[in-house]
Amino acid sequence: MKKIKEYDLELYNCIEKELKRERNTLELIASENFTSTNVLNIVGSILTNKYAEGYPGQRYYGGCEAVDEVENIARYRLKKLFNAEYANVQPHSGSQANMAVYLTMLNPGDKVMGLDLAHGGHLTHGSKVNFSGQFYDFVSYGLEKKTGRVNFDNVLKIAREHKPKLIICGGSAYPRYIEFEKFREVADTVDSYLMADIAHPSGLIASGVHPSPWPFCHVATSTTHKTLRGPRGGIIIAGKDFENKWGVVAPKSGRVKMISELLDKSVMPGIQGGPLMHSIAGKAIAFKEALEPEFKIYCNNIVSNSKVLAEELKLKGYDLVSNGTDTHLVLIDLSNRDITGKLAEKKLEEAGITANKNMVPFDRKSPLVTSGIRIGTPAVTTRGMGSDEMRKIADLIDSVLSNIEDDKNISKVKSSVEELCSSFSLYSTI
Ligand SMILES: *Cc1c(COP(=O)(O)O)cnc(C)c1O
Repeated sequence: MKKIKEYDLELYNCIEKELKRERNTLELIASENFTSTNVLNIVGSILTNKYAEGYPGQRYYGGCEAVDEVENIARYRLKKLFNAEYANVQPHSGSQANMAVYLTMLNPGDKVMGLDLAHGGHLTHGSKVNFSGQFYDFVSYGLEKKTGRVNFDNVLKIAREHKPKLIICGGSAYPRYIEFEKFREVADTVDSYLMADIAHPSGLIASGVHPSPWPFCHVATSTTHKTLRGPRGGIIIAGKDFENKWGVVAPKSGRVKMISELLDKSVMPGIQGGPLMHSIAGKAIAFKEALEPEFKIYCNNIVSNSKVLAEELKLKGYDLVSNGTDTHLVLIDLSNRDITGKLAEKKLEEAGITANKNMVPFDRKSPLVTSGIRIGTPAVTTRGMGSDEMRKIADLIDSVLSNIEDDKNISKVKSSVEELCSSFSLYSTI
């Protein structure tokens, strides 16, 4: 960084500013985490220089011997981590992983079913402002008002009515386990593919803290930068029995092709060019970390922290979607208080607590205002915080939200946040 400081002070200052923010604030955004310095270093390596369109052993360019090894290591570790038969480590992001699966399994205009964005789904699950909602005909299922959980009678009813070719389970703000087995029953009833989007809980799944999508889902996609704690990126995986049961008729030749071959082709050349080899190496090192016994302890701590936070907030009178959590995230429903998600996010940020406004099921406010706040524990758990700190964090959040216009109080909370953060060092070697 010293050289960057000398050459480009403008950018150096931005990075310093961000480092300071990461160190001195409470990062409660459920989709964020802090990667290891090994991941940081390898993503900043010379691997960024290499073009490697294609797959190991079948590249469009020469000189790929070393990067072939990198990708093979990444694929091998990814399969081991998720007990998968097929792995693709090339998607640049979670959204690209989803796009590649859609391209493999669907034709434009085909019917797809996913969790409503307002109920915790994701943009790539059929939002009109996203390619998914423009290229495919999405219908959505929602959560039950009373329980805040997926109601499978309702999912089955919608599936029977619309006969989707693909059903997607998983989302961005669903605090409970994804019930893969129940989704599969529905998928079998209407003869559709089942894809799990495990972008959020993938770290928890890898460590056995959340149930596995196998043998129920035909394919799963994920990010690598959320609970999995790797570099920013995406992956596609499929389980053991997939190849035997499912072939896909290739549109041109009419030949039944194996799904693994089609998924690979959908990623490259279907939607991407050269893979980001530096990121793939970063993924590989994160997979190695996730295979260590410590990672399971980490994931157990994420969930126990999240449960403590949920219980404390409930004691203080907050409504939680689904009344609690099984995972790394908690969704606070502020409808019964006179605060919007937007205002809560802003005031918490002023106090050094980073979280995001989020729609809650049956939200009467717009996506830019919302009635909810989503908080998650992956990042603070990486810093080493435990249940005592979670109780403290619940106090601090409550203090801000209960005195929302009291700027003096917000400054006081900010000092407490900084004091708490100073006891949990972050990137001390940088
Ligand atoms: C985060 C997320 C994605 C996409 O991730 P990007 O890497 O930001 O494209 C996809 N699906 C779900 C459910 C997510 O939460």
